[in-house]
Amino acid sequence: MEKELLIGDESHTSYGTDHLHAPRVAQDASSDSSPFEGASAPPYELLDNRPIDEEEDSGKEVLCGSSDQLPHEEHEGLHSHLTERNILSVSEYDVKEALLRFAASKCCYRTAPAKGMNLQKLTPLNTYRYRLETFTETRETYSASGIYNGGFVDSPAVAPPPAPWEIMVDPPPLFTDCEMHLPIPHSYSVENCPNCKGRGAIMCQSCKGAGKKKCSACDGTGTNTQEDYNVCSWCAGTGDNRCSSCRSNGWLKCRRCIGSGILLFHTELTITWKNNVLERIADIDSGLPNHHFKDVAGKEILSDEHFSVYPIVDFPEPSIDDYSRACIEQHKIQFASGSLHRILKQKQAIELLPVTKAEYEWKGKLYSFYVFGNENQVYTKDYPGKCCCSLM
Ligand SMILES: [Zn+2]
Ligand SMILES: [Zn+2]
Ligand SMILES: [Zn+2]
Repeated sequence: MEKELLIGDESHTSYGTDHLHAPRVAQDASSDSSPFEGASAPPYELLDNRPIDEEEDSGKEVLCGSSDQLPHEEHEGLHSHLTERNILSVSEYDVKEALLRFAASKCCYRTAPAKGMNLQKLTPLNTYRYRLETFTETRETYSASGIYNGGFVDSPAVAPPPAPWEIMVDPPPLFTDCEMHLPIPHSYSVENCPNCKGRGAIMCQSCKGAGKKKCSACDGTGTNTQEDYNVCSWCAGTGDNRCSSCRSNGWLKCRRCIGSGILLFHTELTITWKNNVLERIADIDSGLPNHHFKDVAGKEILSDEHFSVYPIVDFPEPSIDDYSRACIEQHKIQFASGSLHRILKQKQAIELLPVTKAEYEWKGKLYSFYVFGNENQVYTKDYPGKCCCSLM
């Protein structure tokens, strides 16, 4: 049930609390272990069978897959911010100011209703945003080639080339997209150019290797039928013209190997670091479409970062548990199987997104709008002061 606050009620509480607490997780991730070793946590499916906490009566606690007891202080902190769901996040002044700013920013909205409205009621409809960030490293190889100018070749005969994941590189800062290309040592070899099959030249396609082409003026006859069957002046009666494409050679120098017929090949490694983000908004059916939250910020009430995070359990808004489980599972399927990707770090967070529904009267009729996000953005469908062009 949503609490309502009537205008004039002095019980308005400012939004936010100062004592936020780090989330609890069951894993004991060692900071000095290699990111390539994968998750140090037990399989998260086990967590669904954890024992039910005995503190049900004192309210639910939010855990990230841990059945450990939280210290008393942390219990209180978690409980207090969860009650903010039904607390007004803006004042009457903020709401009026937000609508006025909104109307002023639209060319077709008159500001008179925003200035002169009679505010009737404010209803807190705060919601939550769940976000999962999975920082992955992807290693792919491909064959690359270049001109061989002679000299030493670092071939597999020197030493066996390392496998893609055996090559040590410094990753970029966490959760930052980046790409790196580097040749794999000992993967070099000199081989025939595939473009010319080692010949150094390719056949001229214009003359099919003949070096000459049928004279187009006399159609290869050598005589000019237009001028009393005189000798064709274009081909001097030969019926052929030299091929200008290959200068009568019939062959062209191979551009890929510059005529040498050989190339220096190696295996190139591409490493891609990517921060993969999944976001879900708890659907509380407030009347404010969820996509409007895309560009607004909220207040982070839970943040959890590990090599592998666990699904959140027992969050008061049950859909957050579901989103957490589904998003983690989706990224697990996407990145935690096969040899192409590795998960280096995961981060999940829950934000409280402030939403207030404001109802007001203007010229004897009732209207409403929403103020949402830390930025006090406005959404309204029935603003009374629109002029003609906005109705088209
Ligand atoms: Zn070639
Ligand atoms: Zn030619
Ligand atoms: Zn001719």
